[in-house]
Amino acid sequence: MANRIFKDEGLVLRTRVLGEADRLVTLLTRGGGKFEAVARGARKMKSKLAAGVDIFTRGDYTFHRGKTWPLITSQNSLERFLWFREDPDLYPYGLYLAELTDRLVAGEESCPELYCLLLDGWRMLGKSVDRAMVLRAFELKMAHYLGYSPGLHHCAGCGTENVRGFSPREGSLLCPGCRPPDYINLESGTVALARRLLECSFGQVALIRPSARQKEELGRMNSSFLAYHLDPGELKSKRLLKE
Ligand SMILES: [Zn+2]
Repeated sequence: MANRIFKDEGLVLRTRVLGEADRLVTLLTRGGGKFEAVARGARKMKSKLAAGVDIFTRGDYTFHRGKTWPLITSQNSLERFLWFREDPDLYPYGLYLAELTDRLVAGEESCPELYCLLLDGWRMLGKSVDRAMVLRAFELKMAHYLGYSPGLHHCAGCGTENVRGFSPREGSLLCPGCRPPDYINLESGTVALARRLLECSFGQVALIRPSARQKEELGRMNSSFLAYHLDPGELKSKRLLKE
């Protein structure tokens, strides 16, 4: 039988009211994937758990396996990403990474790469960077870790290189000859940008300076690619970002 008590480091993706005084917390953990856990009494004024179960918290958590959800019995906050609370313009960017992770990561399968991706993404957004580029890099890298890495090197139909059309449905570059109905025409800089964001470390995203057109094209490409293959659905953060 599995241990009833277990510990893990986690990032809080979401928190909901449960009953009179509790919270149901969605966590992405370093070792145990994504799951929900109950923080008993977390809505009471004097609760020791209250601050540690807010969205945008990294902490060490101790859980007790319950009948339905694990209970959080103690926590120690390690990082609080305060920039998302202090800057209303920044909040939807952090929320977008949390919502995308919550929607796309299926369950309790260990995924340390995704854990580091979200941690790096939240940290990067607190720095002086092009925020949209952090989001685009996050989308591409997340798709890659989930097994849907877009094909950005040659035409998926015939292998031709230096191709500038992308098919969201095929999840790859396609040449005019192999062109499917959902073909998006990109400038060559956009293809190079997508490739670079997918392959570089998160820290290098800050060094990339794309044109407005490349950013617009990549936004369209990622959005339709994710919608087709991973279907994140409606996100509150996306609405806030548009506003
Ligand atoms: Zn082709």
